[in-house]
Amino acid sequence: MKITLLGTGTPAPSLARQSSGYLLEVDDDLIVMDHGPGAHQRLIESGHRAVDVSHVFISHLHYDHCMDYPRLVLQRWDMGAGRILDLQVYGPPPIARMTELLFGEDGVWGPDIRARIEHESSIFVFQERGGKPPRKRPAPCVKEVHAGDVVEGGAWKVTVGKASHVQPQLECLAFRLDGDEGSVCYSGDSGGVCEEIVELARGCDVLIHMNHYFSGTEPTASYRQACGNHRDNAVIAKRAGVKTLVLSHVLAQIDQPGVRERIVHEVQQEFDGKVIWGEDLMRLTLAAHGLAKVEG
Ligand SMILES: [Zn+2]
Repeated sequence: MKITLLGTGTPAPSLARQSSGYLLEVDDDLIVMDHGPGAHQRLIESGHRAVDVSHVFISHLHYDHCMDYPRLVLQRWDMGAGRILDLQVYGPPPIARMTELLFGEDGVWGPDIRARIEHESSIFVFQERGGKPPRKRPAPCVKEVHAGDVVEGGAWKVTVGKASHVQPQLECLAFRLDGDEGSVCYSGDSGGVCEEIVELARGCDVLIHMNHYFSGTEPTASYRQACGNHRDNAVIAKRAGVKTLVLSHVLAQIDQPGVRERIVHEVQQEFDGKVIWGEDLMRLTLAAHGLAKVEG
């Protein structure tokens, strides 16, 4: 199993860190978890294409976690030319409505889709790509999921958990994927010591956790409960008994020489496992339930 960090940043603009996105390669499936702005560019940089992606899991509908979702769907539909299976999409409500509002007849991309289906030049391009008219509309298979749900893939399963973030305005999820080679838990956006994340991540090989802030500098207590900080993440990793903790969703203020090292050092004082400061396009390989390789 390979895990590629597509975007380890925040909503803030950054050339070094795109917004949230993670790529999991398990058997023949290419699974994307979150697809914020810039994550799709990183997917291409990682050597993959939209048509290769089979499944998408969206943790919550903050734009920095789903703004490249339309790009993924439209590029996949366009380049796939009706020759690939529909994309399987999982996320919290209202992702089904969002999908309809994007790609439906009266959706944001409705006029574009109509033009590509009906105009002679577009039909020509479609056929050149191997498509057989009449061309169908993009039709991602969306299933809305909640904490406690389990999604079974061929060689993997994803368990849906609850994150501590910006409820009740948004339903905020975390995901755990178990495969033959290992297990990875992605916290989505989550702050404080979230008991549900501790349970979801229990015994995982890798926990990717939001690490937005330097502990003690959060503006308010509720901010701490909504956005990750390094000391709370250390407690979660220790209590969950994970082997490796990957810190991600990193603000520019803490992505500084000296601060990075101090955060990793302080996390390691609490947590005995391996700590990784996440970077865009970093690739982790899991084999036989262990971290076999870290690249980038
Ligand atoms: Zn968020």
